Formats: sequence, structure tokens, C-alpha cells
Amino acid sequence: MYKIEADYINEQKIWETLESNKNPDAAKIREVLEKAKEMKGLSLEDVAVLTCISDPEMLAELFNTANHVKETIYGKRLVLFAPLYISNLCANECLYCAFRATNKEIDRHALSQEHIAREVEVLIKQGHKRILLVAGESYPKEGLQYVLDSVRTVYGVKSEHGEIRRVNVNVAPLSVDEFKQLKAENIGTYQIFQETYHRETYAKVHVGGKKRDYNWRVWSLHRAMEAGIDDVGIGVLFGLFDYRFEMLAMMQHINELEEKFGVGPHTISVPRMEPATNSDMASHPPFPVSDIDFRKIVAILRLAVPYTGIIMSTRETAKMRRETFALGVSQISAGSKTNPGGYEEDNAISGQFSLGDHRPLDEVIRDVASMGYVPSFCTACYRMGRTGQDFMDLAKPGDIKLHCAPNALSSFKEYLQNFASPETVAVGDELIQKNIAEMNGIARQRAEKLVKRVEAGRDDVYC
Ligand code: SAM
Ligand code: SF4
Repeated sequence: MYKIEADYINEQKIWETLESNKNPDAAKIREVLEKAKEMKGLSLEDVAVLTCISDPEMLAELFNTANHVKETIYGKRLVLFAPLYISNLCANECLYCAFRATNKEIDRHALSQEHIAREVEVLIKQGHKRILLVAGESYPKEGLQYVLDSVRTVYGVKSEHGEIRRVNVNVAPLSVDEFKQLKAENIGTYQIFQETYHRETYAKVHVGGKKRDYNWRVWSLHRAMEAGIDDVGIGVLFGLFDYRFEMLAMMQHINELEEKFGVGPHTISVPRMEPATNSDMASHPPFPVSDIDFRKIVAILRLAVPYTGIIMSTRETAKMRRETFALGVSQISAGSKTNPGGYEEDNAISGQFSLGDHRPLDEVIRDVASMGYVPSFCTACYRMGRTGQDFMDLAKPGDIKLHCAPNALSSFKEYLQNFASPETVAVGDELIQKNIAEMNGIARQRAEKLVKRVEAGRDDVYC
């Protein structure tokens, strides 16, 4: 099955849906926004309608609706993580990426397990609890075992106040058997971006190596789920092709996973193409996505799949990130480096692409907390087995308030107590008190109890 054409990505249907829903009037757009407020998700047609919005007044209505859905479901939480690039060796030729095989302008490096442990120590000392492990598509002589060992190394590093509690992974697609090995290492989410769902564009920008095979990639999350990994993440690289097409294709992918496995993706990432060493394409994306369209994409996704996390990375600038949190983002990276070994020292190894937000974690935390968002380092769900469908069942507004909100506050308090600068502590403690004061019932009791336990010196408390 996984070798044949993935007919669930139906390009003709996408174009027809876009064509038959173009130029919707204000009444039609408002009808879709009303439906979105029920928080049950949107159809392909609905998404097509919303992608047509350009009038500033309707755009404001879209953003307000997205903000309403985000705050109802997620409250003010923002989950924090850091990428950990373990290797930039790669056998593929993705024209937009600095790691592509023929690029001679970067130094190649695969970190040793000792070096990975040192990188992790630096991240733990900054206060991180979640890592996204990333690698190019070519491993040292150990093959996949290198990735498996690396996950184990990350979990194995312990320091006085911490350890990494969830390792998500973004590496090249694997076979079902290989995915089973990855699952056995206790990973959190396996994520992979299709880059573009448009087959012709896909072929044009992937000109060498295994990644040329569109079908191998587009079926990869089926294989991961078949292997028992039930938290998977999708994404496209915005800038490669028409974002309207990509959004409808993502919906088709999501619908397919829901149909086959009873649960859709856990997260959607929204990377926009950034300049990369020696890549003309990365400096001049064929379909650049403007800032306003980027915000529109996030808002529409929030409405289309309300219970799926949306991840925004440090590819975006601090300003852009600030302007987009309110529209539906639930996870952000912070203090990131995309060059292997880059946390321990500012080495000469080139990163994968240029970053828009270079601020250290403490500064990002202070900034988001000053905006009223609660930085969360919570990893409770995955550690209590609340993944896949179990997580989606829990992810109803009321239940989230009973678990995620108290856990966000206790994990934030743990960060403040163990890692933050005095300025951040001041902003953060005030925010925690304000949030507790606004809670009531069981959620408030739980939050007060958990935060008190952290104040008394306990780490890693959650419900
Ligand atoms: N090598 C594996 C792969 O390609 O799937 C996994 C890791 S790859 C380093 C992670 C992601 O980085 C890619 O899926 C791609 O979307 C993104 N990326 C590559 N070049 C980029 C660029 N110039 N700007 C922004 N993101 C980029
Ligand atoms: Fe290699 Fe991934 Fe970069 Fe493509 S995107 S060149 S597969 S690291």
C-alpha cells in the first residue's frame, strides 16, 4: 500500500474546491465563522472560503474568531521547546536547504553521543524540558541506530534541577519496522513535513536522493501510526507553492489519518522558507507568503482543526511571533540553534537556515509572560499515556482547564524557581498569581496545590 500513489491527496478536487468557493460574499464568510465557533472543525469547502478573505474588515473577524477559539480551548498557555540538531549530513538534494548533499559551502558534522549529552546539559541548564531532535537524511556508519542512541542519550542526561522529559523527533521517513524501534525509545511526537503536497512542485525542488519519492514521504505518517506512534506532526514549507492549495491538501491528509486511524495529527507546523547558505531558492521562494497571509494561515488552521497544536519556530521574528500567538499558536521554540553543536559553543558549522528570533529562552519567556501568556513546560499527557485518541478525548475545553492549566502554572513556577533571571521571576510570579485568582473550582484547587509543592522544593509535579 505504501508504495502506490497516495490518492487521498486529490489535486483535482483541491483545484475544483478552490474554484467553486472563490469570491465568497461577506454573508458566506460569516456563516463559516459562525460554524467555526462551535469548535468542531471545518470542511475542505469552508477552508477554501476562508482562504479568499482579503478585505480588512473580514480579516479582523477571522482573527477575532481564531482568538476566541484559541483562548476557549487553550487559554493563555504557550508550550516551549528547543530543537536539537544532531547531524547535518544529508544525501538528499532539497534545493531550499543548506544541508543538501552537493552544498560544499558548509562543514559537515554528526555529533558524537558525548557531544549530544553536552548539548543537552546546556539546554537543561537553560530550563528546557522538551526537545525536538532533528537530523539531515544520512546517518554515520551506525545508520538508524545513531538516531535511536541519540534519543536515549537525551533522556539519560540528568542534572540537579532537571532532565529532558519529552523528545519529539523530526528525521527522514522510516519503514514500519524502523518506526517501531523509534517508538521503543519512548519518543513523544514523530513529525515530518511534506514540504509541498503539489506533486509537480515536489519533483522540481527535490532533485536527488530518497526524498525525491513523494509517495514514500506522503505515506510516512501512516507507517508511523501503524507502528504504534500515535502522536504525529505534519507541516508544509510555506513558500514552495500556493498556500491555498497546501492548506486544502493538509486538510485531505488530516481527514485521511482520522479516517484510517481514528485520530488526526497531534501538531501542525507552519515553517516559512528562510534564506539558507548557498541556496538561491531559499532567498527567492517561488510562492512567498506575506506576513498577513501567514497570520491568515495560522488563524484558518486554528478554526479548521481546533484541537490540533500549532507550532511556530524561531524562523519567525520576535515581532511576527508576538502578532501571531493570539491567533492560535500553541507551541513555540525558543533560544534555538540549527547548527549541530551550536548550544555548547558558537561553532563555525552552518545552520540549516537563518533564524528570525535569536533571543535566549529567558528573554522570550519574559516577553511572552509580559503579554499575559503562560509559558508551559508541561509533559504530563505523554508521560501519563494520554496520547493519540486519549489526548483528543481529553482535549475538550473543560478538561483542558482541569489538567493543562494547572500543569502549565506548576511547570512555569518550576522554571522560575530554578532557571529564570530576577526580572523574569518578577513578571512570572505576578502572572501565576493573576492566573490562579482567575481560576475557580477544581482547576484552582489543583493549581494552588501544585504551585505550592514546587515552592516547597518539589520538581516535576503534575496532574
Ligand atoms: N532531513 C529531514 C527532512 O528533510 O525531513 C528532517 C529534518 S529537516 C532538517 C527539517 C525541516 O526543515 C524540513 O522538513 C524543511 O521543511 C525545513 N527547512 C529546510 N530548509 C529550510 C529553509 N530554507 N527555511 C525554512 N525551513 C527549512
Ligand atoms: Fe536534507 Fe532534510 Fe535539508 Fe532536505 S530538508 S536537504 S532532506 S536536511
